[in-house]
Amino acid sequence: MEKIKRFIDIQIPVTTCTLRCHYCYITQHRLFSASVPKLKYSAEQIGKALSKERLGGICHFNICGNGETLLPDEMTDIIRAILEQGHYVMIVNNGTVTRRFQEMMTQYPEELKKRLGFKFSFHFLELKKRNLMDLFFKNIDLVRKNGCSFSLELTPSDELIPYIGDVKEECINRLGALCHVTVARDENVEDFVILSKLSREEYIKIWGQFNSPLFDFKIKIFNEKRQEFCYTGLWGGILDLGTGILRACDRTFLAQNILDDPIKPINFRPIGKCNKAHCHNGHAWLGLGMIPELQTPSYADMRDRIDDKGNHWLRPEMREFLSQKLADGNDLLDEKRKVQIKRRAIVNNSVWNLRHRTAKIVSKFRNK
Ligand code: SF4
Repeated sequence: MEKIKRFIDIQIPVTTCTLRCHYCYITQHRLFSASVPKLKYSAEQIGKALSKERLGGICHFNICGNGETLLPDEMTDIIRAILEQGHYVMIVNNGTVTRRFQEMMTQYPEELKKRLGFKFSFHFLELKKRNLMDLFFKNIDLVRKNGCSFSLELTPSDELIPYIGDVKEECINRLGALCHVTVARDENVEDFVILSKLSREEYIKIWGQFNSPLFDFKIKIFNEKRQEFCYTGLWGGILDLGTGILRACDRTFLAQNILDDPIKPINFRPIGKCNKAHCHNGHAWLGLGMIPELQTPSYADMRDRIDDKGNHWLRPEMREFLSQKLADGNDLLDEKRKVQIKRRAIVNNSVWNLRHRTAKIVSKFRNK
């Protein structure tokens, strides 16, 4: 098995969606009525820009839209172009865009499907309300039968608590295992807090009953400010597929366009010091080892389940690849270099925070 070189989180600039979950940022801000965007870069250009040679090795890509990831027509070709470079890809989606699953499952060869996985977000109440439950599980079945990996993830909400029994029953009957559970955050609050009226203890008691390693880890690190040296920027980053901009993480100046010129070398520079209140998607970033000294479950453990027939949700190739840590495929920096980078990051972060606060004040006054 090839060593994992980088983790890249791809953002798709789509805000529209097939569902209207009440806890979703898109619904709260009524962004779902926007039209599906036409993506600027072709699949061919994206594939070329993300070649194994340019990125230095085989990487894991997470692909996610603000709205429904699989709505843009170009997605089938874009995902294929990335898989064809030899990378592993996981698509975050709501399980309702049937035509896209059908395209991928009929057009992709086996070789690509075994490196492809789908993270199905289980929006139980919306699926029930819109009578989409059968279609949702049929789509999971389709990708599973075609040799792809999958994971099922529930977003907890206070409104869902009376239906927990039904959620469990649906998971066991349809998939032979309970879904994973994430931690919902309130995106209207600057540093994100848990989106719930429950106390932290009650929240853990209620949602911990799903025995989800994903939930256990996310809740453990929620609100834990990261002080260690973080290698993101060097070992990965966030790529906006609309603008072509690669950033080390949120809240940083470390950014460059990597799609305009697909052969120009990429300047991978570590962020060093985290500028966020906490690593809210740490199950992926930290699970894959962006902070090597931090002991975490593997990312595979936070995505996989074994069903009542003994089958894994992740197929063997994906499971093995995502069980690695980024330090397996990369060299560590020496302490002297880390101190230099951290010092520079403290200055950069202060400037970023000042500009961010100023921009917020200006926009508040403009909107008055
Ligand atoms: S620890 Fe901070 S900088 Fe590193 S990946 Fe997480 S949020 Fe980003």
